Amino acid sequence: MRTGIGYDIHRFQEGRKLILGGVVFDYPLGLLGHSDADVVTHALCDALLGAAGAGDIGRHFPDTDERFRGISSLILLQRTGGIVRERGFEIVNADLTVILEKPRLAEVIPEMEANLERSLGLGPGRINVKAATNENLGSLGRGEGIAALAVVSLREPGDLGKDARQPCRN
Ligand code: MG
Repeated sequence: MRTGIGYDIHRFQEGRKLILGGVVFDYPLGLLGHSDADVVTHALCDALLGAAGAGDIGRHFPDTDERFRGISSLILLQRTGGIVRERGFEIVNADLTVILEKPRLAEVIPEMEANLERSLGLGPGRINVKAATNENLGSLGRGEGIAALAVVSLREPGDLGKDARQPCRN
């Protein structure tokens, strides 16, 4: 088993669409960023790359690259899933926490989970998304932006097979 952690934060900006986990919100503010600034999906990409020992999102999809301007982060996630699989890993599960005061996420969490699972070619129940407020503390507490954390577990199917074939010695 291998584990990876991901963290991302983006600030709110007027005139941008708010997109979290591929869900487009009807909200007066969006997040500032080079891509669609989907902070939830970025944290998940970083956790996947970390678990695979494949660096980070900035290395694979630099924000100086015009090809990634305004791109849907679900496409970046799909490509990240490809990088992880090329290295021989299988995604076991991911758990995410989104830290924000507003908007309320409870109603759209199932849709966010389904978007993330679909982009990675995973069945239902592999990705869990939670929301937490920052209890009005600091910049997140003042509603200046949104942060997200992700933890991912991977396994190497080949290695598990090898272990299973070890002869019993006692
Ligand atoms: Mg980001």
